[in-house]
Amino acid sequence: MTEQDCLFCKIVAGEVPADVIRRTDRTLAFRDINPQAPTHVLVIPVDHHPTAAALAAQDGDLLAEVVREAHQVAVAEGIEETGYRVVFNTGPGAGQTVFHVHAHVLGGRGLGWPPG
Ligand code: C5P
Repeated sequence: MTEQDCLFCKIVAGEVPADVIRRTDRTLAFRDINPQAPTHVLVIPVDHHPTAAALAAQDGDLLAEVVREAHQVAVAEGIEETGYRVVFNTGPGAGQTVFHVHAHVLGGRGLGWPPG
């Protein structure tokens, strides 16, 4: 499934460059172009789903795979033991700007709570 004009569908298709660090048949992980922490990686499903809630409703197994991949990114980046954060911004009020679901994996520095 793709959506015309979706930036992350274009990254999946190789039409927009990205620093890809992991891929499976159904997911892709690439470094965020504007990192907010020493490790800031986005994990996306290859297929287009707008939000985590939409993906949960359509294909819960794929959402679980995205979360498992987020953990594998943390292991590969060496931030698993110190701790890391997985964030799904959902909706414009929460800062979602790209409506192709993505898990932000953040770590490598102390992460404050509550988030901004
Ligand atoms: O949660 P939100 O939708 O705001 O996250 C989108 C993320 O996609 C941003 O952190 C932005 O830096 C990132 N991005 C990217 N590569 C692009 C365009 C946006 O990593 N080409």
